[in-house]
Amino acid sequence: MSGNGSGIKACALCGKAFFGTSEDMACSDCEARYRRLRDQVREYLWHQPGQVAPIMQISADLGVPMKVMRALMKDPRFKGKGLEEN
Ligand SMILES: [Zn+2]
Repeated sequence: MSGNGSGIKACALCGKAFFGTSEDMACSDCEARYRRLRDQVREYLWHQPGQVAPIMQISADLGVPMKVMRALMKDPRFKGKGLEEN
């Protein structure tokens, strides 16, 4: 690995600084929970017309914090697919 995209990042859930690649959105303590939320959002979108929904609506319906929704928009493994800014 070239280490490209690696660096100090802020965890999407607890805000703690951690070292990770561009694909890591949460620290090791929160990673499992983050992954569950990501799956929940993916599943939610699956049931939406056109598989698109505003992040505010998803946050309200699923109780996913907005900062996690914003992390999902930047998550290379999720690619913000189906997420609308409002
Ligand atoms: Zn964390």
